[in-house]
Amino acid sequence: MAEKQIVEQVLAAPSRYVQGKGAIESLGARLSEIGSTPLLVADDVVWGIVEEPLRRGFEEAGLPVTRVGFDSYATAAAVDELVEAIGSGGHDVIAGVGGGSVIDAAKAAGHLAGIRWASVPTAASSDAPTSALSVIYTAEGAFEEYRFFPKNPDLVLMDTQLVAGAPERFLIGGIGDALATWVEARATARAFAGTMVGDRPTRTGTALAKLSWEILWEHALDALEAVRSNTVTPALEAVTEANTLLSGLGFESGGLAAAHAIHNGLTAAPQTHGLTHGEKVNIGTLTQLVLEGAPARDIEDFIVFTTRVGLPNTLTEIGLSPQDTAELRAVAEAATAPGETIHNMPFPVTADAVLDALTTIEAISRRVRAAHGLAEPTPILTP
Ligand SMILES: [Zn+2]
Repeated sequence: MAEKQIVEQVLAAPSRYVQGKGAIESLGARLSEIGSTPLLVADDVVWGIVEEPLRRGFEEAGLPVTRVGFDSYATAAAVDELVEAIGSGGHDVIAGVGGGSVIDAAKAAGHLAGIRWASVPTAASSDAPTSALSVIYTAEGAFEEYRFFPKNPDLVLMDTQLVAGAPERFLIGGIGDALATWVEARATARAFAGTMVGDRPTRTGTALAKLSWEILWEHALDALEAVRSNTVTPALEAVTEANTLLSGLGFESGGLAAAHAIHNGLTAAPQTHGLTHGEKVNIGTLTQLVLEGAPARDIEDFIVFTTRVGLPNTLTEIGLSPQDTAELRAVAEAATAPGETIHNMPFPVTADAVLDALTTIEAISRRVRAAHGLAEPTPILTP
């Protein structure tokens, strides 16, 4: 795209965000406001959990229940299949119910078919569901492309009882993804750089990123206790909103910077395959703090807090070590590729600088953890 003459600040958001314990039962009523022949996309496991309450709500709303399964990554072929199903069934709205792949595929299919689309995540594991973009993968699960849409979902619906019943590691990952949002939006705002919607950040987008951060520091540990006991508490409600809505608006309209670029770089190292998005992002956030010369106290607090949450802050935990120079250099090179969001930082960033910051987080985190009586790092994935 050619450089625009007019500098514009933009906030992008879904039309409706709905959250509550048992909210899946009101999906029918909510969808009936935007369509009359919905197509639901959900894999068999998710469908087994949601079908009964969802069906009750659909019957009350007078909507037919039509579901197709989904058992792949969000590939271009899977999206095209959904577009066909939309056409042959005459559907006017599509809802992806479940995890990231099904939601990304449903969004992309709804956009291609020219109908309305909704996201119904069953865990608070990332901030993607509210956004106007999908990540498309190859059949083997490698990153293929971002697809950007001119609008956000018509509806995002989160049932916090489902969040409470999902694996604890999903919520931990969502917290890692959301903690990055303020650190990256702050850097983007300082540079007045471009956001994920292609324009400059609004004060609103940046402020929502900060609110997400504040809620997580206050409530993340108690929200994790709620998930461990399969209960819905105000802390879990707060963290679900921070992980999904606030972080979603904050990353899309506040901007990404070094943390997510380093995440993307880490996907080049096979050792990190099998880690969640948020786990890899957390390594990126700590590396960004080191890279920007953040106050030592802030770095220390971040290491103590994320260790308590259960997020990795050492190379050891993600299967690497400071001696893996070749792997770490490849990560740093990928993170600083042209077009990466690391170039939103308010100073020029080189691969050498990223390599140095990434190498040093091991010693910093080990020192801080020992000083606070926290456990020594061990690999998250057992080889
Ligand atoms: Zn993310």
